[in-house]
Amino acid sequence: MLKQKVWSNIDENSQMLKKMARDIWENPEVSLEEVFASKLQAKVLEEAGLKVSLGLKGMPTALIAEYGEGKPVIGILGEYDALESLSQDSAPDRKVRVEGGHGHGCGHNLLGVAGVGAAIAIKEAIERGELKGTVRYYGCPAEEELIGKLFMLRDGYFDNCDALLYWHPSSNNTPWRVPCLAATSVLFSFRGLTAHAPQAHMGRSALDAVELMNVGANYLREHLPREVMFHYSILGNGIAPNTVPDRCQSWYMMRAPKRTQLDEAFQRLVEVAKGAAMMTGTMLENVEVLGGGNEVIVNQTIADLFVKNMNELGGGPAFTEEDYAFAEKLTDQFTPEQKLRGAQAFQIPPEYYDKVLMDKVVSKTNCDVFPVSGDADPSWLFPLGAVYCATWPIGVFTHTWQATACTGSNIGFNGMLFASKTLAGACYELMTDSGLVEKVKDEFRETTKNLNYKMNIGADAVPKKVKL
Ligand SMILES: [Zn+2]
Repeated sequence: MLKQKVWSNIDENSQMLKKMARDIWENPEVSLEEVFASKLQAKVLEEAGLKVSLGLKGMPTALIAEYGEGKPVIGILGEYDALESLSQDSAPDRKVRVEGGHGHGCGHNLLGVAGVGAAIAIKEAIERGELKGTVRYYGCPAEEELIGKLFMLRDGYFDNCDALLYWHPSSNNTPWRVPCLAATSVLFSFRGLTAHAPQAHMGRSALDAVELMNVGANYLREHLPREVMFHYSILGNGIAPNTVPDRCQSWYMMRAPKRTQLDEAFQRLVEVAKGAAMMTGTMLENVEVLGGGNEVIVNQTIADLFVKNMNELGGGPAFTEEDYAFAEKLTDQFTPEQKLRGAQAFQIPPEYYDKVLMDKVVSKTNCDVFPVSGDADPSWLFPLGAVYCATWPIGVFTHTWQATACTGSNIGFNGMLFASKTLAGACYELMTDSGLVEKVKDEFRETTKNLNYKMNIGADAVPKKVKL
């Protein structure tokens, strides 16, 4: 069948795709700094014959690669940012690769490359005359800081898409049938007055304001709906303790199942910040929303399509004996409790708890929300389907050295190829069945008919890198 030819193209490119994923893994770049990854992907896509635009408004590391013409327009979403301090070798034991270095602990080195492989395979099929429509690969920077897709959406880059396809590395092979958490990233900046520390009475400490704000925020937790979470990081002010610091910032990320819950919690947190400024005689100089995402709206028709394709592909990645040995060595270091919690985080059904690597499809998970968040706002304006594919063993969490170890190894690469084929298979079917595209869009219209979309960044906001 013709879809098989699309999958064969990914097999033919597998060495190239693995090398690309490894190269990005070896050069981990954090949000908005993904110069190497975006250039590499742009180069590969351009050489494959897609029309590439590298550098979108305000984001030099965002890219779009397109091929074909007319409807349907299917977008494939990619990411490539890494995380601070998660450097790790591709070994099953803790071995830092670069002291203090970044690492791909969320597997975005795989996430983007799978999309690149799928887009190229679809392009080839369009060129052969086997498919009609437009395939568009979106290289979305700064997902970890909830920035990329939000700004790309605001600036109209997703306009005229009929469907968006997304996957994320995981320990499971399962479509997203439930939303993830809504999130907001916000920076609170305080301004005080410097003084020599022995004459501290002459100064006003912005660091004190941040500390008191954080204390206040921790008391606030108890009086918010239980599902609301927030996490913060104090940003260094570069001032030694012999001077009263006149500037300090606290960077918050807030999460909740619903945007509405988050908005309420956010207003209360701002009041806490104002109180901290008042107590310390400092000024709350700025409250800047840096990014965020509403809870994702997932399209069940696309989810079904992912399940169908994953099953046709054998139910899971083609893990080798070597992958199993690696996975066993890595997970042997977990306590049973850790392994269980890791399995539950990715909705592994209990009957698979004794497995090390997931080679089956879970067509429906038993939860109301996935405890993750992202810059998922495009799903409020365009039908979006999302799927997890297994790239690390059962028990491994995201944002850990164990995840970094796997995303630079064959386990990760094999999962990535499976994801690439799943995306390409779904894209193929949407391009060959106009009834299916209509079904996807009908479902979208029905699900969103009573929702009002509100973007949480303004028209003049610019993507901003926070200096840690
Ligand atoms: Zn991620």
